[in-house]
Amino acid sequence: MKIVFSASVGADERGEWLRILRATCPRHEWLEHWTPGQTADVAVVANPQPGALHGLHGLRLVQSLWAGVERLLLDPTLPADVPLARMVDPVMNVAMAETAAWAVLSLHRSFFEYARQQREACWRQWPQRRAATVPVLVLGLGSMGRAVAARLAALGYPVSAWRRSGGGDAPLPGVQVLHGAAALTAALEGTEVLINLLPLTPDTRGILGAPLFAQLPLGACIVNFARGGHLVEADLLEALDGGRLRHAVLDVFATEPLPPDHPFWTHPRVTMLPHVAALTDAHSAASVVAANLERIERGQAPLHLVDRSRGY
Ligand code: NAP
Repeated sequence: MKIVFSASVGADERGEWLRILRATCPRHEWLEHWTPGQTADVAVVANPQPGALHGLHGLRLVQSLWAGVERLLLDPTLPADVPLARMVDPVMNVAMAETAAWAVLSLHRSFFEYARQQREACWRQWPQRRAATVPVLVLGLGSMGRAVAARLAALGYPVSAWRRSGGGDAPLPGVQVLHGAAALTAALEGTEVLINLLPLTPDTRGILGAPLFAQLPLGACIVNFARGGHLVEADLLEALDGGRLRHAVLDVFATEPLPPDHPFWTHPRVTMLPHVAALTDAHSAASVVAANLERIERGQAPLHLVDRSRGY
């Protein structure tokens, strides 16, 4: 098959992706450059420039190398009739579960506080609570949310997870699955650590804002590992400074890289990561791409298709 590759990444990264994709899927012809009117079977993309696929004929699949496709969906030239698949990679899911475990353990056991105390040469011990007394709520029970909820339940936390639909997936031991606005309101009241793993859609943009924070108990903590657009940054700063929230762990931001003068850099109640909660692993991602290419060749529907009407 003829496959076009389009990625908004640096030249070195693009070269490395192409090398790994070609090595994993050697039977196919990989093209980095093409002209409008040219024919290709599949486009493999990572946040391509808007219009990058415009004028290509014969596409049977657009395969994203990134898990989040909200930027791709904003491109009006993305062919509406071509299936769009996003990256669902078990290696990334494990990475996300590890980062979530670090964040929740650090919040629960005051490890961020101890790190601050070390910088100040302060010797002070805080009570040691059992995990079973720290209720965690995961927003979103997709590929990432499921891995995170399962890992936290295995660590002994009481875990609830909120999703859009009633579901139908296999149950997760130790995880209470919720859906609907009323269930969310009830769950927020009893949540100590809230982890956001929703996709960024018109329904979820700005969900981490003052109205939601007001429903959490005083001193709750926020973890945002999904997208910067979920968080109303000014509301978070106000909630932290006013004592409503105790701490926030943030991996994603409205503007990335975060500008050097942004208050999050130095805020004592914010712990930051530079969008690394779960990095794409090029080798395992290439295997996911290869599996979908084989399905196309066999005439089967590709896996991990995006429902464009839902936005994820
Ligand atoms: P996903 O598989 O598409 O799962 C989305 C989940 O959110 C589903 O459970 C869905 O409910 C639920 N949902 C969607 N809209 C909702 C709404 N309006 N109300 C309630 N629940 C809603 O997504 P994913 O692959 O797990 O990714 C989750 C997030 O992580 C995305 O924002 C992605 O961009 C981000 N991400 C971040 C990193 C990082 O390094 N920080 C890495 C990869 C991904 P249903 O189950 O009912 O459909």
